[in-house]
Order: sequence, then structure tokens, then C-alpha cells
Amino acid sequence: MGGVRLRVKQAFCARWWLAAAVFVLGAAASFAQAPQAARTSEHAASPWTAEYFDGDALCKDAAIVLGTANASMWKPLSLSPSTPPVVRDNALWVRIARADMRDADMNGVAVFAGRRIATVYHGFETNFSSNAPSGTAPNSRRNSPMADPDVIDLPNPWPAGRFWYLCVASPHPIASWFLRLQPTTIHREVTTHRARVVVGCFAVMLTMLMSALFFGWTLKDRVYLFYVGHVSAFMVFQAVRNQLVSYVTFPWAWIASLVGSGLSVLCAWHFLSEFLLVGRTLPLLDRWLRRLAWGAFLASCALPLIGSFLGPRHSVTVVVQAVMNALTVVVCAGALVVVVVLAAKRQRFASYLLLGWTPLFVVAVLSAAEIITGTVQPIWAQWVLPAAAFESLVLSFGMAARTLDLRNERDVARRTAEIDPLTGVLNRRGVFARLEQLQADVAGSDRRHALLYCDLDFFKRINDQHGHDAGDACLQHFVACAQSVLRSEDAVGRMGGEEFVLLLNAQGESQALAVAERLRAKLHESAATWRDTVIPLTASIGVAFIDAQTPFATALSKADGALYRAKDEGRDRVSVA
Ligand code: GH3
Ligand code: MG
Ligand code: MG
Repeated sequence: MGGVRLRVKQAFCARWWLAAAVFVLGAAASFAQAPQAARTSEHAASPWTAEYFDGDALCKDAAIVLGTANASMWKPLSLSPSTPPVVRDNALWVRIARADMRDADMNGVAVFAGRRIATVYHGFETNFSSNAPSGTAPNSRRNSPMADPDVIDLPNPWPAGRFWYLCVASPHPIASWFLRLQPTTIHREVTTHRARVVVGCFAVMLTMLMSALFFGWTLKDRVYLFYVGHVSAFMVFQAVRNQLVSYVTFPWAWIASLVGSGLSVLCAWHFLSEFLLVGRTLPLLDRWLRRLAWGAFLASCALPLIGSFLGPRHSVTVVVQAVMNALTVVVCAGALVVVVVLAAKRQRFASYLLLGWTPLFVVAVLSAAEIITGTVQPIWAQWVLPAAAFESLVLSFGMAARTLDLRNERDVARRTAEIDPLTGVLNRRGVFARLEQLQADVAGSDRRHALLYCDLDFFKRINDQHGHDAGDACLQHFVACAQSVLRSEDAVGRMGGEEFVLLLNAQGESQALAVAERLRAKLHESAATWRDTVIPLTASIGVAFIDAQTPFATALSKADGALYRAKDEGRDRVSVA
């Protein structure tokens, strides 16, 4: 229980939760705000009334429909979409009347949608010439292959007492549909709001995409590129879906939406697999989900080909479509399982994917269910884009966190590679890196840096008398003394054994000598202690300088020479090159 609470607490501490919450609130506020007015005014008295023709046997014969004297064959049509009339014989006739509008004309639209509505005829009775819908009629139009509602302007002005007819027809039985008549202003308000949400979501995705592209390019990290593939393919698919690119027409729109969704799933899986290193923890699942994702992608590519040769209703096309849908669902569900398992295993970053993907997955499944059941006024479909924008945002945060983490790891690795584990100061490699910096700094200037080469006196003897561990303690004691005489911009490093260098930043001869003397004296006066043993310790120090004329290698050998002179002169002393 405590563990769970701790985990929840940790998760809530993360700053991306805050960002996510802000985004969700913004999206929710945006959804709540605009259609409010539309929804309330929709219930205001409408000047239009509609009836549908209930003589199904005669439905196809426009002449009979138009000329029928039997008023009982026309049933009132509720404009509430929850109760659409059942359509038989592939065509449905509706007639619309309008109350007299003495004061003002009102522009209105007929909004309708349904599965597989292929052709729509509309007009006043005199406009219909022959046996629509099988014959040709004016004002007919093909419906979009996508499930979005179609809109027809209602006539204005409206000749007094006349009926306006609308016939929806399809070569397939139309399972369910809806018709709504509303003032153009309200309709515009609703569509504008919808466009705002769509464009806003696209803007978020595009921004995330661009930054991922930039980071992927500069960091040469494939994970970013998989993310870019996933989001951009999704955007293509949704742009076609939402008819943002109206110039892309039927076969191309179909191909783009199929291949876009297949590619999006494929890249999504690759992204997840690399981002969470799934191959390391769940290798079998990783392999299988990768194959299934490829399967979904290949099916999405094959479908337009098969469809164009065999036709969209051919059983092979239908089977391939079903396979593609099934594979997509399996990959998405599998991805979610992987993420949940890894999040439970405390795999870093899995929670980002959990947070980012769960809403999109849930919304996508619900809206797919709406499509399959033929819901004509889908509720969940409009949440797909906000969920996707949210996903792209959270995943961007995740990638940023991952990059930061990798960078920290790299910095730590680099730092530890330059540190002597016994004393915690620079090791030989670190000293040389620092020497190179100093040399670059003095090039072409009159600056100089001091180099103090120190060697502990008779160190072998200490080891022999007190043991190696005592010797180690003496080395640590020396470092403590050295650090106490150095400023923050100076550095100390161990060249190996009991030899150290002190690098004094921008120090002249007198100051460098003073520091060396202070260190020597401090070492002489203090003594190292190891367990209960007090071990006197002295060092000999050679001083040299790095300047524009003296590269560090020369300075090192000069300091070494000075050190040997100090040793020769009796040890425990400072000597300048
Ligand atoms: P001198 O005053 O001439 O420098 O004499 P010295 O005994 O200090 O010089 P020498 O080079 O003969 O001995 C260095 C010793 O340092 C030998 C080696 O056992 C010891 N040593 C080298 N590395 C370590 C270490 O990491 N820990 C310990 N305890 N001893 C080390
Ligand atoms: Mg030595
Ligand atoms: Mg020595």
C-alpha cells in the first residue's frame, strides 16, 4: 500500500502532469464553450417541418412519390437523430415544408449523414423530371466516402405552400441515418467551432513534429524519427478524414487514409519498442508485435491495389480490410499491455507512454465501435484529434526527459572516466584534458598557469612499515591538504602512484611558490592518521609554468626536473624550474 502511494505521489510530482492537466483543461474548455449557444438555439422553434414517405414498395418511383394523393403515406419525421426511420428498398423520400416567414427570410441547411448514402436528390416537385433515383435528376450529388455529414442549402425564399423534396439513395441498404434542419448561422457556428478544434489539434501536432524532427536530426536519434513517422502519418490520415485537404478526392483520399493509418501504427510500434527498449525486457512480445505491425502496414498498402482490381466490395478486399483492422487493434492493444507491464516494472519512461497512449487508444476503440455499428452521429470520433494532440505532447515531454537522462548519464560516465577512484581527484586522463585546456587558454596571450609536481617522500617506506591501506590513507591525506590550499578555479590530479600535480589558474611565480610552500608546510605540520597510527608525511614539489612559449609537455618535464632537484637537495622542499 505504502509502495503504491509512493509511486502515485512520485508520478504526480512530475511536471509533465501539470502540463498535461493544462492541456486537457484547455481542450475541455474549448469544447464546452462554443457549441453551447448552438445547442440551446437548436431547440428554439424551427420554421421547417419534415415528413418521410412510408410506402416502401413505391419508393423508387419518383412520379408516384411526388404525385401521391394519399396523405397517410407521409409520416412526420422527427428531426431528433435518435429515431431515424428505417430505410427499405435503398431509397428514402423526405418532404419538407416551411411556415410562412412574414418578417424575415431565414437561410437554412439540411444536414444529413448515414452509412453508404451514395446519391441525394433534392428540389421542388417540378424539378424532378422522371423516375428518380434510378433516372437522372437535377440537384443530385455524390456523398463523400467518409462518414462526415453532408450539407445542402435549403431554398430561400420558399414559395408559399410548396414542399421541398429530398431523396437519399444507395445501391446498398442504408442502415441508419439522420437529418437535421437548422438555420445557417447555427450550422456555421458549429462547423467553425469544429474547424477551430481540428486546426488547434493539428497545430499542436505539427509543432511537436517539427521539434522532434529538429532533435532527431541534430541528436541523430532514431526514436525521434519514428515519432515523426508516427505523428505525420497520423496527421495525413486525419487530414483526409477531416477533409482538411478537400482537393484530395476519392481514390487518393482512400489510399492516403489507409496507408497513413498503417504507417502510423508501424512507426508507433517501432517508436515504443526503441523508446522503452522492449527487446531487452520482453523480447518475444517485441518480435511478434513488430511482425504484426508490419502485417498491418503491408495490408494497408495492399488494400488500395486489391480494391482497385477486384472492387471495394469483393470478398478478398473485405477480408484484407478486416485483417488490417484486426492487426491494427492487436498491435495497439499489445502496445498498451507492454506499456502497462513495463510501467509496473518501473521501467523509466513507460508512464509517459501510458499517459499519452491510453486516451487515444480508448477514444480510437470507441469511435471504431461507432463506425462499425453505423452510429450516424458519432460522439467519440470528435475526440480522436484532441487525444492525438495530447499524445504527441506527452510523448514529446517523454522524449525530452529521455534525452536529458541520456545526457546526464553521459556526463556522469565522462566525469567518472576522469576521476581517480581512491582520492576523488582528477586521474591522469583528467589532468591531461585540463592541461590541454590551459595550453589553449595561453595561446597568443601573455597569461601563464602554474604547474606544481608533487611526490611524497619515502612513500615506499610508509607502505612497508604500516601496510598498503595506511599508504592509501596517506594519499587521501595529501589530497585533503592540497585541496585546502587551492582556490575553486585550481585543480589537483593524481598522475599515478604517490605523484600529484596541482594546476594553478593564472598564477605568477611568487604566488605559485607561496602556494607550494604553504602545501609543503601544511603537510609537514599535520600528519596522516590511519586507525590509531600517526604517520608523518612530507612531499617534494617542483614548480614550472605553462605559457605561450611553453607547452604543457615541456612544463611537465621542467616541473619533473625541479622535483628531482628538490629530492636531491634533501626532500620536503619546493624547487622552481
Ligand atoms: P622518494 O622519496 O624518492 O619518492 O621515495 P619513494 O619511496 O616515495 O619512491 P618510490 O618510487 O620508490 O616508491 C613509490 C611507492 O608508492 C611504491 C609503491 O608501492 C607505492 N604506491 C604506488 N601506488 C600506490 C597506491 O595506490 N597505494 C599505496 N599505498 N602505495 C602505492
Ligand atoms: Mg614517485
Ligand atoms: Mg616518492
